[in-house]
Amino acid sequence: MPELRKDPLIGRWVIIATDRAKRPVDFLASHDDALPPAECPFCEGREDQTPKEIYAVRSQGAAANQPGWTVRVIPSIKPLLRIEGQLNRRAKGMYDVMDGVGAHEIIIESREHIGNAADLSFEQMHASFHAVMTRMNDLEQDPRFRYVLWFKNYGDTAGAGRIQHSRSQLIATPVTPLRVKEELAGTRRYFEDKERCLVCDLLSQEQETKTRIVIESARTIALCPFASRFPFELWIVPKRHSCDFNRITPEELMDLSKVFKEVLGRLKLVLDDPPYNALLHTAPFRRQRGRVGHWKTIEEDYHWHIELIPRLTRVAGFEWGSGFYINPTPPEESAKYLREAVVGAEEEKVNVGSAH
Ligand SMILES: [Zn+2]
Ligand SMILES: [Zn+2]
Ligand SMILES: [Zn+2]
Repeated sequence: MPELRKDPLIGRWVIIATDRAKRPVDFLASHDDALPPAECPFCEGREDQTPKEIYAVRSQGAAANQPGWTVRVIPSIKPLLRIEGQLNRRAKGMYDVMDGVGAHEIIIESREHIGNAADLSFEQMHASFHAVMTRMNDLEQDPRFRYVLWFKNYGDTAGAGRIQHSRSQLIATPVTPLRVKEELAGTRRYFEDKERCLVCDLLSQEQETKTRIVIESARTIALCPFASRFPFELWIVPKRHSCDFNRITPEELMDLSKVFKEVLGRLKLVLDDPPYNALLHTAPFRRQRGRVGHWKTIEEDYHWHIELIPRLTRVAGFEWGSGFYINPTPPEESAKYLREAVVGAEEEKVNVGSAH
């Protein structure tokens, strides 16, 4: 019997289609033709092929825009939004319009040509998240921006294109994205009702049942959410309540980097290197004058998290039209496969495919 599940954050319904349950082997990864590494503009030694860097972690003495870096942040070559200019918000009849002002930055996570972030070293992963935090803190100072979305595309079908060099992106926007607003509204409603954070409550319930938890470390939990929209969807959540990713503590940043790398490694193992998207949901900037009251309880009611979505199924007409999602793999099963996978043990790959 399929099950309809309601996401407690935004009230979205998901169909868990248990009668056509799929196992990891049922999802085939397609590896499209990639740009040869010799032409990759993100590799060390080709700094002249990218826009000038905004930020970099460099070994001592290495000059900007030259080799000798660990992590490099550059403006996007094809920015979705432009950094110059004012918002110029206006009406066109009933329609609201503003200029496409924003920031679009690329965090290059390795100087070597590594495709999947699962293969980064812990140090590289940590330096990359540290760069994201640093850039967010800097973008927060720009009064034109209300939000910064961090995300990562891996694999052609996840939007990474032909360049298979591990990287993530930051887009600063002058408005708060709708998906984030929906979550903010949902968590605020819950808080008004119960005077507790929804995600904190969710974590303690998941810690009791454990069926959907993949990894629990000292400061971080990785779990397959109850109303997962997609097979093997994961959330990575800090245990300590906090609404702002960019206020993460050094210990939490270490822990997050460790768990994120581990989770990516398990996805790669269990699903044979699938394409995926990862995105960070954190609170909007709250320093605009006149809007402070708007975020009355946000520090208590919102809880930042990373959503990680392997791209195994396609979203089609029904999903687009209804906002429902059809998920052929119950999250309890996804979590079990991921929990039992051990990165580094090659025979595990065989076991995972046949154990059901
Ligand atoms: Zn490269
Ligand atoms: Zn919380
Ligand atoms: Zn979210």
